[in-house]
Amino acid sequence: MNETVPPRELVARIVRLTKTYQLGNRVQVYALREISLDFARGDFVAIMGASGSGKSTLLNLLGCLDRPTSGQYILAGRDVAGLDDEAHSHIRGRYVGFIFQSYNLIPQLSVVENIEMPLSYQRQILPGDRDRCLRLAHLVGLAERVHHRPAELSGGQQQRVAIARALVNNPQLILADEPTGNLDSATGAEIMELLEALNGAGRTIVMVTHEPEIAARAHRTVHLRDGHIERIAEHRHGRVPPPLAGKGPHRAFN
Ligand code: ADP
Ligand code: MG
Repeated sequence: MNETVPPRELVARIVRLTKTYQLGNRVQVYALREISLDFARGDFVAIMGASGSGKSTLLNLLGCLDRPTSGQYILAGRDVAGLDDEAHSHIRGRYVGFIFQSYNLIPQLSVVENIEMPLSYQRQILPGDRDRCLRLAHLVGLAERVHHRPAELSGGQQQRVAIARALVNNPQLILADEPTGNLDSATGAEIMELLEALNGAGRTIVMVTHEPEIAARAHRTVHLRDGHIERIAEHRHGRVPPPLAGKGPHRAFN
């Protein structure tokens, strides 16, 4: 093989990441034990493992919702493990988008208002924001539903709203916790197509799933067991990973 593999931009890196919980005042539970992983621009990584293996802990750490007990977490070139609360939540809002199994939409708000929500946590809503949110609703196939409330939408449509909401801050890293877990398989496949399209456009996706056929659509699967990486399976799709933006011989194809 003499293919040239273009260099890939690192979005996130965890090094010997460990999270322990204290049970009572004696027993320490290792939720994650010295995990090291790299996530490049355009990666699509599935996380699998039995209940209690550390999947949610890992996703929460990657999403800056929680802090490691020890180890490093480099996000967008910065070690975020040691940042204070304000800097930590700023990084979360700027670099991370979340998609949850149960959508977590606000029932009183319309589709476009739900999509707008993460912006209002970050700063004042600006005049161009509404248009941007309408464009995102269009992108996920909900142009006709922008003024509906979540209760008036199907599960698949609600998850599309959640995906648009995850994109509103233009995050580099999208974290999805069983995004198809509440959906029938045909609707789940549609949601996977949407995630694959985002990934194809260069977003890095880390997705927890229990379903092997969903995981198989990622580029690789990290299998966790008792807070360790048990093994990593690479999936071949014949796709070339997106090259480093603006550099290298593949620039013309970007
Ligand atoms: P998974 O998402 O794979 O089911 P978790 O990351 O939720 O696993 O949990 C990993 C381990 O850490 C489990 O043993 C769980 O009981 C423990 N754990 C998670 N959160 C807490 C907590 N807040 N307090 C104590 N133990 C916890
Ligand atoms: Mg979990």
